[in-house]
Amino acid sequence: MKQTSNTVLQWLKQPYTVILNFLQQLSRTNKISVTQATIIPREDHPISRKIISRSALDVLYGLKDAGYEAYLVGGCLRDALTGTAPKDFDVVTNAKPEEIQRTFRRARIIGRRFRLVHVYFGRDVIEVATFRSNAEDADTKRLVQSKSGQLLRDNVFGTIEEDAQRRDFTINALYYNIANFALYDFANALQDIKARTVRLIGDPETRYREDPVRMLRAIRFAAKLDFSIERNTAAAIKPLAHLLKEVPPARLFDECNKLFLSGHGEKTFHLLDEYRLLIQLFPTAYRYLDRSPSHYALLGHALQNTDKRITDGRPVTPAFLLAVFLWPQVVEQQRAKITGGMPPVVAMTQAASEAISEQVKTVAIPKRFSLMMREIWELQERLPRRHGQRAARLVTHPRFRAAYDFLLLREEAGEIPPGLGQWWTDYQEANPKQRDAMVKALNVRDSKRAPRRRPRRKKSNHAKP
Ligand code: ATP
Ligand code: MG
Repeated sequence: MKQTSNTVLQWLKQPYTVILNFLQQLSRTNKISVTQATIIPREDHPISRKIISRSALDVLYGLKDAGYEAYLVGGCLRDALTGTAPKDFDVVTNAKPEEIQRTFRRARIIGRRFRLVHVYFGRDVIEVATFRSNAEDADTKRLVQSKSGQLLRDNVFGTIEEDAQRRDFTINALYYNIANFALYDFANALQDIKARTVRLIGDPETRYREDPVRMLRAIRFAAKLDFSIERNTAAAIKPLAHLLKEVPPARLFDECNKLFLSGHGEKTFHLLDEYRLLIQLFPTAYRYLDRSPSHYALLGHALQNTDKRITDGRPVTPAFLLAVFLWPQVVEQQRAKITGGMPPVVAMTQAASEAISEQVKTVAIPKRFSLMMREIWELQERLPRRHGQRAARLVTHPRFRAAYDFLLLREEAGEIPPGLGQWWTDYQEANPKQRDAMVKALNVRDSKRAPRRRPRRKKSNHAKP
């Protein structure tokens, strides 16, 4: 990577770059379109074909051989230049979706908002997009915009320059041309990567209005890459955070997965909170969370654990984090219902239903995950009850492990006194004989306490007269 920065530095010293930088600075303040790319030849940049997946190369060469232009674009280049292995490769071309589809044996056109082509290689999928034009230059008949300026459909094809202009951040507007292996930098991406800056292309307010999800993306990239957010890009977020209300809940669910399940969840969470975006995503749950420091800590622990699991390559599910997020609300509502005379289990079920139906108004939760959340919550009621065959039955419950992890977190955060978690840890490690003994010990302890709890005296009172 050292060599990279040297070549990039050399490149930055070239006089034409200075002029271009000046023009681009102008374009940032006066919103002039950037139409010229700086081309960095292969020998001056570190992107080699070795880091590109076989499938992505097949797509790039497939398009090139069919007579089209083909580039890698965006995240994969940004990640490679910042020293992270790219997780997927996005391809962009001047071929139209139908032409892309015809070029490959297994390809499917997908999407409504953006029409893209998925090209399949075994289990691998490469996403291929056609160059698109930006809003201002677009044929208005084909561009659908909401009252607040949000782009609802954006299928106007354009040139590579126009395509670069409508990308979100400068660091995402880099292209790698398979025809000459050169990098095409339209928005000073290399300079911003070097300066570790997330900067929107164009006017921040317009760009956030076009697509409010860009606010979440700014936070995500800042957390993931450990970049800072450029002043104007950052300043526009708080005043426009409310626009997230207009984004369909299903899209926000997908985005939340990227925010919290990409290995930088904890940092992302705190940044989202700082920029007042968290309250937009979880309006009701946030109110409960905000007034309970122990629950806030609980969520912090959960996010840390999730990040660690991802680093270790262990599986994660959004249901667990969502269960933690909504827990303070569920607990408080359950308590209120119990005070009102409702039995605890019924109170839990109702509180759970209410919390979930409130939450899905902003961020959708697919049924399989909301079911899992309910199970995790309901098991919190059952974990203390271990008599007879109960413990043996509980450990075989498909959601036992998640519920047990949840219990440990509650103890760690001081929500409940420690003890029960350790009991379950020991129980899982014990052999069948030891397990029996553990439950019996429980029975003995409880039966010693039983006379105090059971209304035995009543019986003897009746017997007396
Ligand atoms: P990652 O894959 O790590 O999430 P990425 O930058 O590749 O990051 P994708 O969602 O895969 O993100 O998008 C690919 C590219 O498409 C981006 O790099 C960016 O150029 C462009 N893009 C994605 N979403 C938007 C958006 N909301 N507005 C403008 N451009 C976008
Ligand atoms: Mg990507």
